[in-house]
Amino acid sequence: MMRKLVFATNNAHKLEEIRAILGEKVEILSLKDIHCDTDIPETADTLEGNAALKAEFIYKHYGLDCFADDTGLEVEALGGAPGVYSARYAGGEGHDSEANMKKLLKELSGETNRKAQFRTAICLIEGGEEHLFEGVVKGEIIEEKRGNSGFGYDPVFVPEGFSQTFAELGAEIKNQISHRARAVQCLCEYLSRK
Ligand code: IMP
Repeated sequence: MMRKLVFATNNAHKLEEIRAILGEKVEILSLKDIHCDTDIPETADTLEGNAALKAEFIYKHYGLDCFADDTGLEVEALGGAPGVYSARYAGGEGHDSEANMKKLLKELSGETNRKAQFRTAICLIEGGEEHLFEGVVKGEIIEEKRGNSGFGYDPVFVPEGFSQTFAELGAEIKNQISHRARAVQCLCEYLSRK
């Protein structure tokens, strides 16, 4: 029987990306699939802490092997901000990508150091044991949005070695080189060693 793992998210983009990467090796269940409609608190001040909070919540309440991720955009000239606060950078409840990008471009206006990285932390809980994985993609923030695919800060981020933004490169290329892809790759390598 195919191995099952709960991915503690309902974000359709992420589920699609991760299912594309894990292929047929593991069946990925979403929070919706396990009928979890709780808004799991993300109150830690690190990416690793938030990933662990979410995975621990699922393991504690559902007793299922699971993993959770947390991602941040870390901009060098802003001392690593917005980092763990990437979703809520422009304030409010968060996930307003347009407002977040607008604020980011404003903060970086006139700044010549445009270096940034996306970093993903994944916490896997398997049989009660926690394991952490990390994925990073380095790049830079451009001055104006370009492209329509992806989500979040994709239209303003150009990964190292490319001239197009994540939003212009599209899902197929992004899934090969992204922070999340690299973190999931580490998770996969771990899972296939067992
Ligand atoms: P989360 O922890 O994956 O929900 O990510 C937090 C925030 O980081 C999101 O709300 C997005 O603004 C941003 N983010 C995460 N992953 C990506 C990505 O692949 N591209 C662009 N922005 C992302």
